[in-house]
Amino acid sequence: MRGKGIVKIGIYSDVHSNLEALDAVLEALDREHVDRTLCLGDLVGYGPNPNECVSKIMQNADDILAGNHDYAALGLLSLSDFNHSAAEAMEWTWDALTPVSAEFLGRLPLVVRLGKIMAVHATPDAPEEWHYIQKEADIVRNMEILEMPICFMGHSHLPVVFVQDEQGDILIQNPTEIRFQEGSRYLINVGSVGQPRDGDPRAAYGVFDTKERCFHLKRLSYPVDLVQRKMVAEGLPKMLVERLAFGQ
Ligand code: ZN
Repeated sequence: MRGKGIVKIGIYSDVHSNLEALDAVLEALDREHVDRTLCLGDLVGYGPNPNECVSKIMQNADDILAGNHDYAALGLLSLSDFNHSAAEAMEWTWDALTPVSAEFLGRLPLVVRLGKIMAVHATPDAPEEWHYIQKEADIVRNMEILEMPICFMGHSHLPVVFVQDEQGDILIQNPTEIRFQEGSRYLINVGSVGQPRDGDPRAAYGVFDTKERCFHLKRLSYPVDLVQRKMVAEGLPKMLVERLAFGQ
């Protein structure tokens, strides 16, 4: 950590064993001179480089959360919760994962608290149940239990910001640029590094400037075709290979 205290925090999630996308994000965070980095989980699953991603994140991130795919990689979550391609990729991951990577994944927490922010992989109300925020009732329930005014999360691979203003009204915003207001609460989904699903194939990452009280979500191109070739060579499911190009 540089200088006096933490000013800029780099935040990313759902790397999913995609080394090329992770490298692009780590280089960008370096250029941004962030003081601290936070990885919100799902280091592995889907992609062809689980150990390389675990090792890089282990060296680069200051705080790292466990995601549902990391739990599944350790045998802590049944594959019946996964669709066919995800389960197939997880079986491949079981064979590929080294004991060192597995041991590291086994030490990751479900919640991180950093000053006035908290972070979870899925939802703050039950981080170990891997829920999704789908209805307004889900937003309200999660806002109510927030311990801090700002919570970062991943899991859905869909970047979005849910805001509850001082009057209690819920607003849904685009996370490209958020200016934090005193008295409001924020649930911020930072999207996915290695498997975006919002129709934009570029890797997503965010920068939270604690001094300026703002957050920016950014996107980066990376060599998708290279990752696809590796996935084909490893015999990973075709559907997972193809969706990378479309960000779906
Ligand atoms: Zn994920």
